[in-house]
Amino acid sequence: MGEARRRRAHAAQTLETRQCGDCTACCIALPVRELELPPYQPCRHLRGAPSPGCGIYPDRPEICRAWHCTWRLSAALDDDLRPDRCGVIFDPVPDTARYDDGRELPVCNAWALAGHDDAFQQHPKVKGFVDWLVFDRGVGVVWRTAPDEGNVRHLRMLYNRGGKLVVGPSVVETEAFSSEAEQAARIERAHEIWRAAR
Ligand code: SF4
Ligand code: SF4
Repeated sequence: MGEARRRRAHAAQTLETRQCGDCTACCIALPVRELELPPYQPCRHLRGAPSPGCGIYPDRPEICRAWHCTWRLSAALDDDLRPDRCGVIFDPVPDTARYDDGRELPVCNAWALAGHDDAFQQHPKVKGFVDWLVFDRGVGVVWRTAPDEGNVRHLRMLYNRGGKLVVGPSVVETEAFSSEAEQAARIERAHEIWRAAR
């Protein structure tokens, strides 16, 4: 969901100071149900250099018009956390997940780009934002990673247990798409939440 996807659409929802620039991370990593595009497969409509962006901008799917990453929505993430800079896309859409200890709790979905599997431990600012989500906001993080050599996707749950960050076991990721209505409602809710958090 690259520059052209976001530069103009729903501009009022995003921070005025935040532009996608050359970032095309979401067009590379996120699923697009309307295009039957699975996670971590670059969109066939994505243009490369010298002007990266959407090649079907006027006709792009609704999800490409509506969705913005959390970096576009909230100053809680500083400039270094633009996804192409830090290697991680934080999805602003609220979700719930069942932790390996059996609890079902609110979560933030994070999509690590290839080569950034351990950014929540290795990248100081990513680690800081994950800690803020887990310890200050009280949500877990569903940490998704690019497919392995066998084309299998994995996720891990990151959550607070007794004031310590727990890194759950790596499990195979299967779910890719939600319904159109569910998707739209969740995006609207995400915009409300992140506007309130500014
Ligand atoms: S159609 Fe593809 S390239 Fe265009 S905004 Fe959507 S995901 Fe990105
Ligand atoms: S990941 Fe965020 S900054 Fe990057 S292209 Fe998508 S919306 Fe723009």
